[in-house]
Amino acid sequence: MTLSRFLSKTTTITPVTMGSEYKPPASGILTSPDRLRKIDQLREKNIDVILPLPTLVAVGDQSSGKSSLLESVTGIPFPRGQELCTRYATQITHRRDPDVQIIITIIPAPQSTETEKASLRSYRKELSSTNELRDQFVKILDEVNVYMKIKTDKNPEGEKTFSRDILKIEKCGPTEDYLTVIDVPGIFRLTSKGQTTEGDRHLVRDMVTGFIKDKRTIILAVLPANVDVMTQEILALAEQYDPDGERTLGVLTKPDLVIERSAKEAVCNLVAGRKKALNLGYYLVKNRGGDDDDDSDDDSGLRQKEKDLFQQNPWCNLPQERVGVGALRERLQDLLGEITDKAYPELRSEARKKLTEARDQQDALGPPRQTEREQQQYLAQIAAKFQRIVRAALEANYSTHSVFDEHSVRLITKVVGIIDTFNNRMRRKGHTYSFVKVETGDSDDDSASKVDDSEQEDDSDSEDEYEAAQSNDAHYTIVGELFPELESIINIVEQPEFAVKDDNRDWIRSMYLKSRGIELGTFSPIVLASAFRDQTTKWGPMTEYYISDIIIGIHTFILSVLKTICADGKLFEAIKSIIMDDLLARYVNSMNYAKFLVQVEREKKPYTVNHYFSSNLQKSRGDRVSEALKGKRHYDNRCHSPATYLVKFDQIKSAITNKSNQDHAQEDIHDILKSYYKVSRKRFVDNIWLYAVDHHLLSGPNSPLTLFSEQWVLGLDEDSLNAIAGESRSTRDKRKELTKKIADLEEALRILK
Ligand code: GDP
Ligand code: MG
Repeated sequence: MTLSRFLSKTTTITPVTMGSEYKPPASGILTSPDRLRKIDQLREKNIDVILPLPTLVAVGDQSSGKSSLLESVTGIPFPRGQELCTRYATQITHRRDPDVQIIITIIPAPQSTETEKASLRSYRKELSSTNELRDQFVKILDEVNVYMKIKTDKNPEGEKTFSRDILKIEKCGPTEDYLTVIDVPGIFRLTSKGQTTEGDRHLVRDMVTGFIKDKRTIILAVLPANVDVMTQEILALAEQYDPDGERTLGVLTKPDLVIERSAKEAVCNLVAGRKKALNLGYYLVKNRGGDDDDDSDDDSGLRQKEKDLFQQNPWCNLPQERVGVGALRERLQDLLGEITDKAYPELRSEARKKLTEARDQQDALGPPRQTEREQQQYLAQIAAKFQRIVRAALEANYSTHSVFDEHSVRLITKVVGIIDTFNNRMRRKGHTYSFVKVETGDSDDDSASKVDDSEQEDDSDSEDEYEAAQSNDAHYTIVGELFPELESIINIVEQPEFAVKDDNRDWIRSMYLKSRGIELGTFSPIVLASAFRDQTTKWGPMTEYYISDIIIGIHTFILSVLKTICADGKLFEAIKSIIMDDLLARYVNSMNYAKFLVQVEREKKPYTVNHYFSSNLQKSRGDRVSEALKGKRHYDNRCHSPATYLVKFDQIKSAITNKSNQDHAQEDIHDILKSYYKVSRKRFVDNIWLYAVDHHLLSGPNSPLTLFSEQWVLGLDEDSLNAIAGESRSTRDKRKELTKKIADLEEALRILK
């Protein structure tokens, strides 16, 4: 029989009022009604989703009569049928409540998505009586099939044959007792073509075992009396999960269909316990049969029919407490009470354990970041921490955070090292041509170098340092791969040509000759300017090279620190991607400023107010006079200490007037250039440090280090904030689930007290 046929069949069931329904014996027989009531309260709070509560589950082969049995026991018209009727588990709960009503909802399968869960939870039907339920049952089941996406003739868009969602029917009323039963799809052995697959078979088996493996579940093994009990798979399955048979109850259905006398005898042997196959024994009940459907029997009519049947031979000889729905129901409540008593202390400890677990999981998720404010606070906290580390890094206060264990993160030390190297390189190799060292005669060694290395004021720094800097090249290529975003900003590929040319005189001469005008005894200032430009061609590439190095250092610092302080990779990536453009713009600013300083220094007309220029120049000029007089001096033997030289007065005149105009001009150009270059170079390196590095990259208000700050967080719009600090859907769902779980478990513990 198909579902639709079954549904059409149920409509013919004669309505019964609640009042006329079967009444169980007074609950005084329960071992502990208080506890059962508490279990019921827990179920009311949906705690059985987290904590399996004592339950009755009817299991058996297809068409063994499970649904019919549960209808007999609960008075709820279950979906019944010979074929695939029960496509999902149905939980019927009785609840004592002043209001008489039936509430139908769906408990989503735990593995459903949040959207599916929301849709399933939105289903709710409230009915005032069993009559109304009967009237609407077909319609309700059709709706449920749509919600659970079950494929039927009426719902061809459905995707599945079976669902793990649970249909929950709550029967409330002042006389209801504490009984919860679950009807599950029947176990089928053969898969029928077009209807059920091997996958379905596994799913159903899995669902059934999911219910019966819990030791708080009473297994109602439903077996049709008209077939050989021993062939029923369910008994083996029940034994697997309840080896001692402490909670497996055999229920034999369809006694009215047993015809042969030998078959009847076999059933009687089981029920009377003469053939001990189950610890808790067998019960014999008669449910609404196919033929009963045509009768307009209500529940009491059916019970009467059952009663009549059991008065016949051989059933009348069976122990009365083992036959009939009434007896079974009594026993079930009894059993439920026992199981509950046993489970009670365990339930408490389990709830406590689950609560601890849930709280731990919640802690692991960190503070909630759902609302704009929560996200802002979360992000501002991280930004504040970042700024604290930046401050420590600029003050070389490295003991404050373990992030500094990594040496590349020791920012200021690294930057100062790079600036020092830059300064040294500029001093030793920044100029294109060497300046001439004028022989003053202070030294007796005439073969002394003609090249001035006075630029090397401080020779203490060894070549090793430069080598060390050079060996950074390998590091640079790696960095280039690591930070492709920096590629267009930094210039580390082109190494500046570091060799200094020695042909200074020729260069100055050619410079002079090229730009000579008709000046008398002097030279055009243009010569000086272009000579200076020639002398400083390496400044640009050298500066870019070292600024690049510093930018890489800062970038490494920012990313390493961010990565360390962000709890998860997703957050780090989100912050990184949203600050990146601004960060790069700030690097570009610094680089552009450095280029601007180079340009200004090289292209302005050489000028300075620094008095070192004139003292340098005067020293050069003095040196030249000394050099010219060197050959004309003689030793003054009257003074031994210190050694003193004497020059005749008229020789001075000839010595300094003995030069051609051209020589004189060239010497002047050289000396002025040399004095100016030195002043300019120092000024330039200092400016690079102060403006391009310190202000633009380190401590200025717009340095890349100040970007990720609390201020920045406060300026974020809602969307960006959510994109960075918002929780992923799954985290949010998880948090929501945990919050509810914790509240439920706390409530459970309160109830179980
Ligand atoms: P399920 O698949 O295990 O849920 O079985 P159902 O409850 O749907 O029952 C299958 C068929 O057996 C239905 O047509 C029922 O009316 C019928 N049935 C169940 N119990 C009895 C019974 O005790 N006597 C008779 N005659 N028919 C029964
Ligand atoms: Mg069924």
